Amino acid sequence: MTSPDGERAIATVDLTALRHNLGVVKRLAGESRVLAVVKADGYGHGLEQVAPALAATDGFAVATLREALAIRRLGLAHRVVLLEGVLSPAQLSAARQHRIDVVVHHAEQVALLQAAERQGAQINVWLKFDTGMHRLGFPPADVPALLDALADMPHVASPPRLMSHLASADVPGNAHTQSQIERFRKTVATHPGERSLANSAGLIAWPETREDWVRVGLLLYGVSPIAGQTAGELDLRPAMRFTTRLLAVNDCAAGEPVGYGGAFRAPETMAVGVAAVGYGDGYPRAATAATPVMVAGRECALAGRVSMDMIGIDLRGYPDARVGDEVVLWGAELPVERLVDSIQAIPWEMLCGVTRRVEFRYVGD
Ligand SMILES: *Cc1c(COP(=O)(O)O)cnc(C)c1O
Repeated sequence: MTSPDGERAIATVDLTALRHNLGVVKRLAGESRVLAVVKADGYGHGLEQVAPALAATDGFAVATLREALAIRRLGLAHRVVLLEGVLSPAQLSAARQHRIDVVVHHAEQVALLQAAERQGAQINVWLKFDTGMHRLGFPPADVPALLDALADMPHVASPPRLMSHLASADVPGNAHTQSQIERFRKTVATHPGERSLANSAGLIAWPETREDWVRVGLLLYGVSPIAGQTAGELDLRPAMRFTTRLLAVNDCAAGEPVGYGGAFRAPETMAVGVAAVGYGDGYPRAATAATPVMVAGRECALAGRVSMDMIGIDLRGYPDARVGDEVVLWGAELPVERLVDSIQAIPWEMLCGVTRRVEFRYVGD
């Protein structure tokens, strides 16, 4: 069936690629278990399709209670970790009722646990401490007293898990990461519970951070977190292919401006394409004229500013382009990692920025 918008911007998500990537991540994780991070609507790929496709994971991690409950509504009984924890008694009781693990990173959250019903299902807690990112987490020196306080709560499952987050794991050899790892080791040394430290970059560049649970997002979607490395080198496959079509092919005289503000001027008489995607679809407005796009399999570059519904394309790389030709914005042939410099966005932001105006198609199983 053709969609009402015809063939405008389309995000094609390959569920087989997601499964394949989980297999790669599991091999890299070795003995460690995997929390598949599916926050922000499965990094923009669609939580409802992504989570079931990743059912072979050991657990899921999300940022919000709404996301956690969405996983339960899909009928998935996995461990689900709420990475930011809860902010109110009502959230805590909903998490408890649906067996959602909560991260506890602040004294307010300890107070919420203290105030909760003693009776009823035990709550799984991941106590988060700060090894140097200075975003969420208790000072390491507070951890022993917090563990004592949690041990006195019969409704908190014992022992709690301990976790921390790396700020710069994407920079191999980074001294700050080294010091975060040392602080982590020191803090967890005598603790009998399970531990978690690594994100995608930790898993790849710092295998010593795998601990009991790795928390992996980006790699599952087939993208490398390490600058200068593409996922293909890790045997990962991009799960999303973001495409659209050419709406117009125009002849542009030398010196004429293209698009808002005349930011691009044709250096010579040339063909300029207009494709049906813009920042209203999540194609970043910050993308510069050097940003590559593929037109019918040929590499071209943007011309002029990204508008809400359209982009201009310098067709000197493919002057034979025709209205209706497919334009690939990113995908296997144009990995998002390659766009980082010219788009001035990180892959995480590009993927979860694709808006709901875009038609999502799911392939594979
Ligand atoms: C988002 C997130 C992750 C996953 O990060 P990736 O770089 O996508 O693997 C892991 N841990 C925490 C605490 C997060 O917020």
